[in-house]
Amino acid sequence: MSWTERQRAMLREMGLVTWQPGSRAADPAPAAQPVPAVATPRPVAGPPARVMQQAVAPAPPAAAAVLDIATDERTRHIATLDWPALRDAVAGCQACALCQSRKQTVFGVGDRQARWMIVGEAPGEQEDLSGEPFVGAAGQLLDSMLRALSLTRRDDGPEPAAQRVYIANTLKCRPPRNRNPQPSELAACEPFLMRQLALLQPRLIVAMGRFAVQALLRSSDPVGKLRGKVHQYQGVPLVVTYHPAYLLRSLADKARAWDDLCLAASVAERP
Ligand code: SF4
Repeated sequence: MSWTERQRAMLREMGLVTWQPGSRAADPAPAAQPVPAVATPRPVAGPPARVMQQAVAPAPPAAAAVLDIATDERTRHIATLDWPALRDAVAGCQACALCQSRKQTVFGVGDRQARWMIVGEAPGEQEDLSGEPFVGAAGQLLDSMLRALSLTRRDDGPEPAAQRVYIANTLKCRPPRNRNPQPSELAACEPFLMRQLALLQPRLIVAMGRFAVQALLRSSDPVGKLRGKVHQYQGVPLVVTYHPAYLLRSLADKARAWDDLCLAASVAERP
């Protein structure tokens, strides 16, 4: 991929040095890795009820059966919702304890015709206040990286669908004091993300951070092990990368994250 002067300026702004053919300028980023078609298809109908059972293990068999039925019914209902009904369902959701401490839910942002879907982890304090995912310093870094690829989260600009992204989190409510999400919370919230994906039908998914990866790939492997290749989620190519909040603390991995986005861009450009 060759960069325009504007893109190179953006990369410099992010602290990344671009390598040009014939140039001896050092590029801290390792060469973009080839794109093996590593396909690990996930079952089409993810079993959130089963995950929730694992998290609430001591339940006696009869109670577990009731929980299964209730969760299945809820999941089936969410799978029928259109965008406005889905947003309303998230706004009024009380399916896990995070509803008690949130200021507001964080549904998602971007164009509903977007080809890219970026999936993050959970809202932080800024997101809880604003109701939008990826705001604050991490959001600014993400926006800079997107701009370098001529992508935008805006849904009211002149850009074509190919340049638009939709951004959502795995969890729609902020965990108190930004603690890690619990398995039962991820399972309870999963049907909302599944429905967003089904409605959006993106050409590409970028999973940012450990909990987004765990939710979508059902893998406990670290991000560093899963990045650099193309996975599949229900037939949609999925690229794993670091969360921007982590990149703010780990400059060395910024260049790897840029490689990941370049890999994602090459996938999105495929016919
Ligand atoms: S985190 Fe998800 S499941 Fe839990 S209350 Fe919020 S919207 Fe509902």
